[in-house]
Amino acid sequence: MAAQSGDAALVDAAGMLAAQSRVARFAPLLAQLFPELAASQGHIESDLLVMPQLQQALGLPREHGRLWVKADHSLPVAGSIKARGGFHEVLEQAENLALQNGLITLDGDYRTLAQPTARALFGQHQIAVGSTGNLGMAIGVMAAALGFRAVVHMSADAKDWKKQRLRQHGVEVVEHSGDYERAVESGRQQAKADDRCHFVDDERSLSLFLGYSAAALHLRDQLKTQGVLVDAEHPLVVYLPCGVGGAPSGIAWGLHQLFGAHVHCFFAEPVQSPCFLAHLLSPPGSHYSVYDYGLTNQTEADGLAVPRASLLAAQIMRPLLAGIFTVADDTLFTHLALAHDTACLRIEPSAAIGFSGPGLLRSSALACPGANHIVWTTGGLLVPEVQYQGFLQQARHG
Ligand SMILES: *Cc1c(COP(=O)(O)O)cnc(C)c1O
Repeated sequence: MAAQSGDAALVDAAGMLAAQSRVARFAPLLAQLFPELAASQGHIESDLLVMPQLQQALGLPREHGRLWVKADHSLPVAGSIKARGGFHEVLEQAENLALQNGLITLDGDYRTLAQPTARALFGQHQIAVGSTGNLGMAIGVMAAALGFRAVVHMSADAKDWKKQRLRQHGVEVVEHSGDYERAVESGRQQAKADDRCHFVDDERSLSLFLGYSAAALHLRDQLKTQGVLVDAEHPLVVYLPCGVGGAPSGIAWGLHQLFGAHVHCFFAEPVQSPCFLAHLLSPPGSHYSVYDYGLTNQTEADGLAVPRASLLAAQIMRPLLAGIFTVADDTLFTHLALAHDTACLRIEPSAAIGFSGPGLLRSSALACPGANHIVWTTGGLLVPEVQYQGFLQQARHG
């Protein structure tokens, strides 16, 4: 696969701001389409939470900084970080179609897009995606809510409850026996044959990337509100779960736009699926997968079970990334339960992977009294109670 070197040049701060404005333009419509967004007037955001008890439970001394959680596990509607990039790409697609057809103006009332004329237009178009689960959930639910025909190509490791939930929303789920990469490829091929089909390409999409990046703008405001400084004496250290790399790279890139050298972003990957690490360790021009390193890509962190990294993400992150660490599945469950017991956080295994980060930096300059360590918890809200109790049991009894 050739590197998409042109694309990285298209990522700029104006794009990040445009993504933020686009999502804001849709807020009144989203408040109308999703009852759970009425309270936030259609805005989809998560809290930044200080975690003193969890910090203590993890054995992190206060002299090493303060522990925070960026609670994307509670993002409404999608239940994961995919609400950021995934929703943005569907909304961009809807906006472009509506503008081309004269149904809205950029400063008009987007609630007209809930009317039959707009829905009939969207109904002639299809939005497709390949996914291990969470991206499919975000794309499928938003696309179907707007009236698009939605198709989600799911890999073998996708959980049954995610497939069921999508079908309940009127989304067509195509099940593949192969891994994430295969699901993406068949979706991509099927979409190519149909010019009324937009394929959300998790390995290459700029729209996804910029949608994720806008999280940085919101985080900056939250830090300001909470009185958190970011400078040489107060480094901001961010731990991001990494699958194909789009979400963590979008956010890390956005944070670098805002905080420059004072932000330090680390990616966290499962021991058996470290695709970003595999790629960065490989010779220039190659695109190795975790299989090439003799790994299995088998992990309970289904949101991170990706064999090969996004080239777009890797190209952008290579000069910016502070480091990558890997975490064993057992540790994910231990930390999932600790987050539950000390702070009532309800997260899925993928979302627990960042909690290993601060301890690994124990003897680095980033473990200092002025530091703020932000663990990005990326999914969990929609996990059914039975599955969630199973996670807790696995943590307690193995
Ligand atoms: C998708 C996902 C990630 C990582 O995002 P990528 O863009 O695949 O790197 C992390 N956590 C959860 C829960 C996810 O669903």
